[in-house]
Amino acid sequence: MGKGTQAELLAERFGCCHLSTGDVFRAAKMSPAECQFSPAMAEAVKCMNAGQLVPDQIVLSLIAERAKCLRCRGGFLLDGFPRTVAQAEALEKILVKQRVKLDAVLSYELSLETIVARLGGRRTCPICKRVYHNEAKPPKQLGFCDDCGVELFQRDDDRLETICIRMEAYEESTAPLVAFYRHQGVLISIAAENTPEQTFARTLEALNMQRTSMF
Ligand code: AMP
Repeated sequence: MGKGTQAELLAERFGCCHLSTGDVFRAAKMSPAECQFSPAMAEAVKCMNAGQLVPDQIVLSLIAERAKCLRCRGGFLLDGFPRTVAQAEALEKILVKQRVKLDAVLSYELSLETIVARLGGRRTCPICKRVYHNEAKPPKQLGFCDDCGVELFQRDDDRLETICIRMEAYEESTAPLVAFYRHQGVLISIAAENTPEQTFARTLEALNMQRTSMF
């Protein structure tokens, strides 16, 4: 619902390593049929398609495989991880081991109505993976990619019934992380109702304020 866009903009601005767990699962899903993936990855794709969270163990082994990203020179940006308290606790241990820490945790706040409108209107090109939105970022010819000319598709996890399941999973498993990271003093909440550019400007401002208050 826009966090991926913000993560890309931030990674570009700060030159840091961008690790998106959702992107890893989507890449597995889009890989050609002959590219067999592990039973764990097959389970992850099944959960993602159904709008459910991928089991912690699978997500954590994926992060463990990529733990060296946390030592990248330009820093790191975790997108969509952690999503449960168990993942956050496991991350603490990984951070200690890698001798790094979280400077900030960004929580983008959006009304349910806007979330449904944003996710429900999103369409993707199956070839170049460019993401459009029926209202906010429509292609020149509705339903077709500007660059490839092929028909756009809707991600399974962006269908209305799946969005409702994702929202339930958020309330139950992810919302408690707000208190978890507020308690650590690293949480930054950002209103995300406006355009991606305005939200990005707000994010930079909030990060700047946080940095100034740290020194
Ligand atoms: P995202 O692109 O971050 O919204 O992730 C897409 C989907 O991938 C989510 O709806 C989940 O099914 C799965 N996923 C991504 N990251 C996680 C995570 N940290 N824990 C559990 N499931 C995840």
